[in-house]
Amino acid sequence: MDLSVLSDHGPEHLKIRSMNPPPVEAPFSDELWMEEALRLAQRALEAGEVPIGAVVVRNRDIVGRGWNRNISEGDPSAHAEIVALREAGATLANHRLEDCELFATIEPCAMCAGALIHARVKRLIYGADDPKAGAVRSVLQIINHPQLNHRMEVRSGVLAGRSSELLQAFFRNRRERVRLG
Ligand code: ZN
Repeated sequence: MDLSVLSDHGPEHLKIRSMNPPPVEAPFSDELWMEEALRLAQRALEAGEVPIGAVVVRNRDIVGRGWNRNISEGDPSAHAEIVALREAGATLANHRLEDCELFATIEPCAMCAGALIHARVKRLIYGADDPKAGAVRSVLQIINHPQLNHRMEVRSGVLAGRSSELLQAFFRNRRERVRLG
């Protein structure tokens, strides 16, 4: 390609091009929403909580956000997913979230999986598997259990490495604090 052809157009050509950018479809993807869930997990980490975050999305809008608050609120049920579902229910003034998707940085536990079913969530997207408490497939299979009526689409492994890194940083720090007394 002869580059002198481009330079012949001069700055005026570049100006016109920048005024008329090609139409680009906004990148609304699972990874984009997971980025927000990871930001919330980071807030949990900064607050000394287990770094897990969750967002509820409906029609490309975030209607609920949550991060773990068990310690700060003295609440064993204050998992990121539960906090996000409560906010979504309040935002939509509806306890059924049938057209909603929930993004969580880690595989939900039995309590959160149960809440997702009660909420009739349409789709669950999560990051890392939780081999100690995961209730989608790792320890229990509560989501899409054959004897339960509700079915939801599941996608796992979205930005899983970053979710694991946050959790590893948290548990490494905690071990360090215990060691130092
Ligand atoms: Zn949970």
